[in-house]
Amino acid sequence: MSDELMLKRMPVIFVGHGSPMNAIEDNAFTKTWEALGKRLPRPKAILAVSAHWYTEGTLTSDAENPRTIYDMYGFPRALYELKYPVKGDADLTEAVKVILGDTVSIDNGWGIDHGTWSVLCKMYPEADIPVVQLSVHARAAAQVHYDIGKRLATLRDEGYLILGSGNIVHNLALISWDMPSGFPWAQAFDDYVKSAIVEGRHDDVVHYERAGDSAKKAFYTPDHYFPLLYALGASDAEDQVEVFNDVCLMGSMSMTGYLFTPQE
Ligand code: ZN
Repeated sequence: MSDELMLKRMPVIFVGHGSPMNAIEDNAFTKTWEALGKRLPRPKAILAVSAHWYTEGTLTSDAENPRTIYDMYGFPRALYELKYPVKGDADLTEAVKVILGDTVSIDNGWGIDHGTWSVLCKMYPEADIPVVQLSVHARAAAQVHYDIGKRLATLRDEGYLILGSGNIVHNLALISWDMPSGFPWAQAFDDYVKSAIVEGRHDDVVHYERAGDSAKKAFYTPDHYFPLLYALGASDAEDQVEVFNDVCLMGSMSMTGYLFTPQE
């Protein structure tokens, strides 16, 4: 049997990345990411939808050696010295172009940003799995992001891991750095999303405003929320849902992540 025929449908994952410091810290969140990297079937390459590539239109890259982007300010030097020298993957870029057609453009002006590398440097510390980033179209409605995820789902059958990286609650204006938990409204919004995902009510995740007042504070711009919709769109009703790093902290940040795994 050829490798092609032996490919198993890959999981889909959404990770709450939180502070860039996770990249150089060793904590409960990063330990979970490390364990996931060891446990998941090894992907051919990763399509990463990062909150930090928030653009006009949907963009992707065909760079052979994408740059590590340091898109954060005021952190210790060690964070800017971290390298995540992954390769791109021409086949994956081509597959994305075929699926999304003229709704996606190539742009090599970006690279691998901290939404992606702060997580992958823990999941796959060898940086030996190629990564292609897909941007989040800043002006598209929530439903559009979900639908793009749905179209990309076929990549799962070709050995690719779809990774959404953001945060379900992410409101830096209201952050309280020393708070070990979330404000009640932050926890309420995280719980609203969790129930909807676990119960398969994807429409309530897309239409997150149905959560009421908590949705108004969870974020002022949806850049960190939308990556969840790609992962959710690429999941299907047959997948098992696993919730991990199920924590709100710093008042207005959720670290909650979701793994969607095909049933054996
Ligand atoms: Zn971020």
